[in-house]
Amino acid sequence: MPELPEVETTRRGIAPYLEGQEITEVLVRQPRLRVPVPDDLAERLVGARVGELARRAKYLQIPLATPTGHATLLWHLGMSGSLRIARLGDLPKKHDHVDIVTASGHILRYHDPRRFGFVDWQHADAQFDTRLAHLGPEPLDDAFTGQWLHALSRGKRVAVKPFLMDNRVVVGAGNIYAAEALFMAGIDPRRAAGRISLARYEALAQAVKEVLAAAITQGGTTLRDFVSGQGEPGYFAQQLNVYGRHGQPCLRCGSELKRITLGQRASVFCPGCQR
Ligand SMILES: [Zn+2]
Repeated sequence: MPELPEVETTRRGIAPYLEGQEITEVLVRQPRLRVPVPDDLAERLVGARVGELARRAKYLQIPLATPTGHATLLWHLGMSGSLRIARLGDLPKKHDHVDIVTASGHILRYHDPRRFGFVDWQHADAQFDTRLAHLGPEPLDDAFTGQWLHALSRGKRVAVKPFLMDNRVVVGAGNIYAAEALFMAGIDPRRAAGRISLARYEALAQAVKEVLAAAITQGGTTLRDFVSGQGEPGYFAQQLNVYGRHGQPCLRCGSELKRITLGQRASVFCPGCQR
């Protein structure tokens, strides 16, 4: 599943081909995505000019100056979606559902075998868009701190890992990154969120920032793959300490990594290093 770093890398990869460009054509081959592709997509997009691409959590935001005013497209990659830049003449492959063509002859091409992703209009006022309104802070923003985690967790008995993965607490701490950050901070994923000290939450917030920043940096090396569909998008080949390594020795202390289920999600941790 594309996680926050993949979405951020996508934004950086496609932005240079779209920003400032006029849209000349829209082709929808398969409108049945998780949310049906809006009927007026082509009508509103053709003649529009693309503004500066943004990202909130795992949503890509594409602002547009349209012939009838301003609008923003909200794009979610779902479980298996990817956005690539193709060139005029590049034939679509199976599962290439949507093409957005620019005046420069580039095509923003959406590929999604499982069709859990979607493209839709964002609410004219982002704060009233129900998909965005409840989201917690961005992990790499200054608003996300140990103090924030500490204040929000007081009185909560939920285990710290599902607490961290709740996107009202912070966005982007998916299963991989939550497991890695808890390992880095030395915190047992089963520990009650409300019983963790401020100092430990400060270490955890720092760890979340570090694992996500590292993944985004790693993703930067794949940017050239965004043009003409070379290479398949996927997880970045990041050095993982615990995720997917249960039964293997901890890289720090040598203890056998344990796998448990927490909040219906598989969780791997080191019983030696994480307390
Ligand atoms: Zn260990």
